[in-house]
Amino acid sequence: MASTAVARGVTPVVIEQAAVPLERVLGAEMGQFCADLQRANGVELHTGQAVSSVRTTADGVVVRTDGGLEVTGDAVVIAVGAQPNTDVARASGISVSNGVLVDEHCRTSIEGVYAAGDVANHRHPLYDRWLRVEHFDNANKQAMAAAKNILGGAVVYDDPHWFWSDQFGLNLQHCGDAHGWDRLVVRGSVAESDFIAFYLAGGVLRAAFTAERGGDVYAAKELIARQAAPDPRRLADEDVDLMDLMDELPEAAEAAPSGGN
Ligand SMILES: Cc1cc2nc3c(=O)[nH]c(=O)nc-3n(C[C@H](O)[C@H](O)[C@H](O)COP(=O)(O)OP(=O)(O)OC[C@H]3O[C@@H](n4cnc5c(N)ncnc54)[C@H](O)[C@@H]3O)c2cc1C
Repeated sequence: MASTAVARGVTPVVIEQAAVPLERVLGAEMGQFCADLQRANGVELHTGQAVSSVRTTADGVVVRTDGGLEVTGDAVVIAVGAQPNTDVARASGISVSNGVLVDEHCRTSIEGVYAAGDVANHRHPLYDRWLRVEHFDNANKQAMAAAKNILGGAVVYDDPHWFWSDQFGLNLQHCGDAHGWDRLVVRGSVAESDFIAFYLAGGVLRAAFTAERGGDVYAAKELIARQAAPDPRRLADEDVDLMDLMDELPEAAEAAPSGGN
């Protein structure tokens, strides 16, 4: 929204309660990259401030924060996430918790009932945790896996997840699930907005975030899907082709994900 507003000649003020934007998904360092990107492009970004009130006055809409900030604007966009509507599922006796709970085959707790997309909280076999994802790539692929299983298949939905966004003229992409990561390895230049950042947990590649490196995402996704544990020095080395890292994986780990694609 901020990027589009700037492109339309509007100066947006962004108020974020976390220390940096996207901190929950990307961590502090890459979140700082996003903050710098916004500020460098004319966004007035306030972090560490939670909105405490919004009211309409004769001068415009006034937003106040718990940190004492007061901003008056022509319009306010509230972008604080979405809550899955699970009323029908709950009333039907289907298990819900942050969405409709589904197993790796997209099955709910009731025989013959499946769920996919934003509303599904999926036991992801790759990350071994419940994951509810609000992106259309997941909604498409998970729905396909569910449909195949409804038709008698036995598809395990284990897509690593992927989304992209164009902001301030930069192409940003993210794949995987960085939850629990303990090491960040950067290939390229963050200062020049031309990099891929790898998130590893216990040496295993879990997620990647790219700026202007969409071409690397295919290999990163495959490495994540195969639970590869690449040498961090080689991940950081521009001279090492990421496809080579994929080819070097041991045979046993090369079972292609069933994905539901
Ligand atoms: C403003 C916005 C921007 C977005 N931008 C992106 C983006 O850039 N990239 C990206 O990957 N994703 C984006 N998304 C997310 C993406 O749109 C969703 O992930 C995707 O639409 C999810 O698909 P779905 O089929 O699970 O749910 P939905 O598309 O929400 O479809 C669910 C449908 O079920 C219907 N429904 C609900 N309850 C009932 C009922 N009881 N009976 C019958 N029908 C019912 C609803 O009316 C709705 O039509 C964006 C979402 C929003 C809101």
